Amino acid sequence: MNSILESPSPVRTDENRLPLVQAQGVRKNYGQLQVLKGIDLQVDAGQVMCLLGPSGSGKSTFLRCINHLERIDGGRINFDGELIGYAQRNGKLHEMKPREVARQRRGIGMVFQRFNLFPHLTALENIIAAPIGIKRIPKAQAIAQAHELLEQVGLGDKASLHPAKLSGGQQQRVAIARALAMEPKLMLFDEPTSALDPELVGDVLDVMQKLAASGMTMIVVTHEIGFARNVADEVVFMDGGVVVESGSPAAVLGNPSHERTRAFLENVI
Ligand code: ADP
Ligand code: MG
Repeated sequence: MNSILESPSPVRTDENRLPLVQAQGVRKNYGQLQVLKGIDLQVDAGQVMCLLGPSGSGKSTFLRCINHLERIDGGRINFDGELIGYAQRNGKLHEMKPREVARQRRGIGMVFQRFNLFPHLTALENIIAAPIGIKRIPKAQAIAQAHELLEQVGLGDKASLHPAKLSGGQQQRVAIARALAMEPKLMLFDEPTSALDPELVGDVLDVMQKLAASGMTMIVVTHEIGFARNVADEVVFMDGGVVVESGSPAAVLGNPSHERTRAFLENVI
């Protein structure tokens, strides 16, 4: 046990940063294909990182590794003071048991390009399913929380509608509310607006911007450069399974130092 005098976890680094996610030398292969070739990244509590890069550069794979959807082949990912997939027992590292993996995953919310709502459930039922089924919180409490979340994403009047009766942008906002219902410490977004009609993108980005302003830690894979410029604390440009450059939005988007970044930005803007 830590004595009271010892600093509590999470550990503060020299620069007074509170890392929530730390990736060091992360490698991932699919057979012979090397998809991640040594990714080093850090996201601090309360920060928003936007991950940009051409298709196939490994962005989704990286998010999936954080969320236990893929297993890494090298390096390490630390989340909230713990190694992803490994637990410390009796002073030794062990592969996590399914129950421990599930616990770790509960701290991480994920929103995909396709909304993946349960089609046979209403918006409200989609949101309360995991809090009741997994977190075992009382139904009345889950329902009250779901109504609050629907208000927050601008869908207070849509609780009883099924996904088919909602626009793509509304479905995506329900998906965000559903992830938030588990009270995650980290939200991962994988191109959350890429499948939406252009006129529906703004409402989803507004919700994400509000979430960022509320202090949520977020990693956002997106081609929305305006969002990255306005909301990100750090922008990371990936290509070919490596981080090409990272820094403030002003630096990476306004004055990129690598030709590959420049070429990519010219294409997306
Ligand atoms: P991005 O999200 O940046 O577009 P991905 O992480 O989806 O890139 O993919 C990176 C590379 O890994 C691509 O070449 C893709 O074809 C390959 N890939 C992704 N998932 C798999 C998989 N399950 N099996 C084999 N190859 C995969
Ligand atoms: Mg992707």
